[in-house]
Amino acid sequence: MREIRLAARPQGWPTEDTFEMAEAPMPEAGPGQVLVRNVLMSVDPYMRGRMNDVKSYVPPFQLGAPLDGGAVGEVVASQSEQVPMGSYVVHGLGWREYAAVNAAHARVVDPEQADLSAYLGALGLTGFTAYVGLIDIARFQEGDTVFVSGAAGAVGSIVGQIARERGAARVIGSAGSDEKVRHLTDDLGFDVAFNYRDAPVREQLREAAPDGIDVYFDNVGGDHLEAAIGSLKKYGRVAMCGAIAGYNETSAPAGPRNLALAIGKELNLRGFIVSNHNRRMPDFLAEVGPLVRDGRIRFRETIVDGLENAPAAFIGLLKGENTGKMLVRIS
Ligand code: NDP
Repeated sequence: MREIRLAARPQGWPTEDTFEMAEAPMPEAGPGQVLVRNVLMSVDPYMRGRMNDVKSYVPPFQLGAPLDGGAVGEVVASQSEQVPMGSYVVHGLGWREYAAVNAAHARVVDPEQADLSAYLGALGLTGFTAYVGLIDIARFQEGDTVFVSGAAGAVGSIVGQIARERGAARVIGSAGSDEKVRHLTDDLGFDVAFNYRDAPVREQLREAAPDGIDVYFDNVGGDHLEAAIGSLKKYGRVAMCGAIAGYNETSAPAGPRNLALAIGKELNLRGFIVSNHNRRMPDFLAEVGPLVRDGRIRFRETIVDGLENAPAAFIGLLKGENTGKMLVRIS
């Protein structure tokens, strides 16, 4: 069976040479394990950080070893009573065709309830990140004006729709193409959206929210964060979810130059790692699950075919080639 390994640690942008496709022996399910035939895998921005040899909240990928990450697949052999053969599971061993997974680390999902892909996106960690960040970290309240960056991406597109469903006064999104901007207002119900490449974010945000914003959900960092700090009202809240503008930079980015505004405005800027908030998963599924199934919360996916194209999918994600969740179909 085939798997993709880390061939070299990228300096700056990853390239095809960062990865290598290799043949590996077919894994076998040991006691308490299941053998999974992977159907789809997720590529995520955080994987870029794991390619650097630095200590972080998840350990770095190892040179010459297979990459890993979210995947969904069919159980084709089982040594676990909890997870029978023929069931479908979400687990953490993507980037390979087959995986031997500890049953305790596999979440059984129902392909009758939703497409398998949704369990890696809107109904999976992506949607959960949006929920935790908006509700618990940014402490969203009905009537808030919300700005979200990376708004046409997997997390951002769900953030804006949860805010709308929960009664935001105004939902504003930024994205990197005119087509994405149209998608936000025409398909996803954002009140205003702008293309951050057209003019400085600071100017476009001020125009979109002349009276200021209450909440900023940050997927981007850099100029977006600086613009948001400028536009936040007194007691404004920021969920610091990601800072993708800097992930491929070789030197540390300059901080928001206006950070001291946080003092006078009494802003609350708070970071979070979604996996530390798992106790909220049932609340997320109870609230967002039905909205997704009823089509009130909509989501797009960009699906790339073939494990051999996973590196290109990952690099494409960092460049914004995706609308909504970026996934790779393995079989
Ligand atoms: P997305 O689907 O949003 O894909 C990444 C998007 O980032 C691209 O589509 C691109 O869209 C945008 N982008 C790339 N470079 C830039 C740039 N320089 N400036 C502005 N936008 C840029 O990915 P996810 O939804 O999976 O992740 C979104 C963010 O959330 C990431 O920062 C990620 O690290 C973070 N995250 C954090 C988690 C946590 O626990 N804290 C958990 C999951 C994700 P465009 O065309 O608009 O530029």
